[in-house]
Formats: sequence, structure tokens, C-alpha cells
Amino acid sequence: MTSILIKNGHVVDPANHVDGIQDILVENGKIAKVGTSLTTQADEVIDATGLTVTPGLIDLQVHMREPGREDRETIETASKAALAGGITAVVSMPNTSPVADNQAVIEFILKRAHDVGLITVYPSGAISKGQKGHVLTEINEVKNAGAIAITDDGVDVQDENLLRRAFQYAKTCDILVMSHCEVEKLTNGGVMHEGWVSTQLGLPGVPAEVEDLAVHKNIMLANMCGARLHLLHNSTKGATEAIREAKRKGHTNITAEVSVQHFALTDEECFHYNTNAKMYPPLRSQAHIEAIIEGIKDDTYDAFTTDHAPHIEPDKLETFQNAAFGSTGLETSFAVMNTYLVKPGHISFSKGISKMTVEPARILRVNKGTLSVGADADIAIFDTRQEWIVDAYKNSFSKGKNCIFDGKKLTGKAVMVIRGGRLKYQNGEILHT
Ligand SMILES: [Zn+2]
Repeated sequence: MTSILIKNGHVVDPANHVDGIQDILVENGKIAKVGTSLTTQADEVIDATGLTVTPGLIDLQVHMREPGREDRETIETASKAALAGGITAVVSMPNTSPVADNQAVIEFILKRAHDVGLITVYPSGAISKGQKGHVLTEINEVKNAGAIAITDDGVDVQDENLLRRAFQYAKTCDILVMSHCEVEKLTNGGVMHEGWVSTQLGLPGVPAEVEDLAVHKNIMLANMCGARLHLLHNSTKGATEAIREAKRKGHTNITAEVSVQHFALTDEECFHYNTNAKMYPPLRSQAHIEAIIEGIKDDTYDAFTTDHAPHIEPDKLETFQNAAFGSTGLETSFAVMNTYLVKPGHISFSKGISKMTVEPARILRVNKGTLSVGADADIAIFDTRQEWIVDAYKNSFSKGKNCIFDGKKLTGKAVMVIRGGRLKYQNGEILHT
């Protein structure tokens, strides 16, 4: 095993309240030492002067598409895209083909991720067989195979009794439930946020209450069963208020995230029928964004994610109503957080990093997301001042070119990424060390 000494970087490690110039020594895949002016010999020395060193980012919601839709993305291409964004661990969503609702698919994902060897992939299993919402998955089977959570993401479980039973089993098996909150009958074919813009464009809207109702329902049933519930990609004022209230009452079993596009962009992105702006939940209005940012500031929201959802071009070169839902995001999430939350002064850089490292690790109960001595040596090194224009076609590792930030100027870029003590990414190149 090689050793790496990172010198003179500005280390931001929220778990240990570190925010200053420090050196980090990596040995045998673990953090060996953190301190000022370390003089230990190492196989490789990285001069991080002027750069920012953080724990490797952890993304709780990624659609890797493999098995079954390798035309959209593979575990390998998603892993490369993740590294380019400073991300060293992800939770893969189960809406693959076949659906990850059994031991064989979970084991396949773990084996592929291990063979690719670039990032850590934590597979999630489906709540219901085939994500059809009728029959429960063998929850203990997927957990024993290595699933870190169960979710039907992509859809919500519409049958409240099935959802209740899922929470009961999840409590018994001690596995996290991740809910995509949507009352489908109320969505009623909507394709974007219901409001002034949808009226202008003549497109059917998704009212905010679609999410608000489902968030309330999920919180109530999870609490009734004492299960751990993580609420995926929240986007509304009502959801924020419901989660804040649950936390105020001391329900520590409830955690929640925001996908970065939902604090950055409004539904006005849908003008000109830009299908990259079509996603679920939809981009909302400015009033909802302001409520989401308040929820980020007061820690109603624990984590930031991408909801990375790659598609092939024909599925987006469609009318807005027929186009696929989703945007890619692995290569841009750090820069979006830095550009839209830190630069305008909404939150500190350290708080932003905590919601992409130690907080998601806490939700998953994994020993990552920190630079503590003994922790896995997953480290991202960023240039937080570098300005760049997103070009999903020319400069992206993801097979999906459907990035809502395409053409936008962002600030902050990963320069080097270490995972498991080995340098895996440097200045735009993937390293197979
Ligand atoms: Zn979802």
C-alpha cells in the first residue's frame, strides 16, 4: 500500500471542527495523521497550497442505470462522473432492469462496483417487488445481500397499508427507508411545477401539495412504526414545514435532503420547453426556493444530493410532455452548492460540506465523511475559486448529456480525489491506481 502526504491545504472537516491549514497523512487506505507541518516520509507528496481539502463527498441518491440500461449509464461511467465531482461514495437507486428487489441484483451491483474499483457504491433495494407497489420485497433478503436502504424511488408507494408494513419490516430489520414523496392521483399527468410558468407554457402542472401530502403521510407512518425514514429530494415550502415540525417534536428517526437543483433553479428554466429542466420533483417557484434555503440554514435539511438521472438523447429530444424526467448532476453538485449557497452568503462553506459528507454518512451509519484518524481515506481536493462553464457534451464522464446546468457558469471544481487511500482522479483524468 502506498502512503500519501497532502501538504498545506485548507482542510475543512466539519465532523472534527477543523477549518484551517493542515497536513494529512494517508497510510494503508486510512487517515493516519492530521496536523500542522507533518514531516513524515511518504511515497507521494501532494502540495495543496491554495486548495481546499475535504472528506470525499457522499451522494444519497444516484441512478446508475446498471443493470439493464447501460445505454444510459453504467456503474463505471457513473463512478468516473462521481470522482470528477469530488464524490467517493453513492447510494444507487433500485429502478434498474431488473429492479433491485432481490439478492441477485444487489450482489451484482456490489460486484460490478468492486470490479470497477473507483468509488464506494451502497445499493438500495426496492420496497415493493418490481417497484409496482403491490407486494413487499423480501426486505431481510436484500438487507443481508448488502442493501443499505429500501426505496421505491422513481415512484412512491401509493398503498398506505403496504407502506405501513414496509416501515414495520424496516424497523424489525433495522434498515433505512428512503421515500420519494408523491401522491400520484394528484400529480395527474403534470410535467412541471403548477404555477404562472406552467400556465404561460400551457403545460399540465404538478401542485406543491402532491409532495406536501406525501411527506406528511410518510412521516406519520414512519413514526407510528418507529422506523428510520429519509425523505428524498424535497422541493416545497409545505414539505419543509412538515419536516421542521417533526424535528421540533424530537423525531430523530426522520432525516431529509434537498437535491441541489432545487435550491438553485426555478421553474423558469422550463421556458423554451427545455426538456433538461423536466424532472421529478419539478423545479419550483422562487417562493419555494426561499423556503428550502431557510430549511437548509436551520438544519431542517440534513443532506444535499444530485438525484443524478442520465438519459439517452432521444428520450430528451421529445416534446416537453413526452420527454423523460431527470437531470444528470454528479459532476456539478459541489460547484452548485458552492455557487448558489456559499457565494451568496446563505451558509458557510463548512456547513455545505457537512451536508455532503458527515451528515449523509450519519444517515447511512457508515464510517465515512470525516478526516478522523483511522477513518477511510476518502478525500476530495477542490479549487473553490475556479470558474468554469458546464459543457455536458464535451467535458463529462456521464453517458447522460441531459444536465440542467449545461451552459451555466459555476465556481469550484474537484482537482484531485483520493478513495481508499489511492489517488483516483487528477485534473480531469481518471487514474487506475
Ligand atoms: Zn425520486
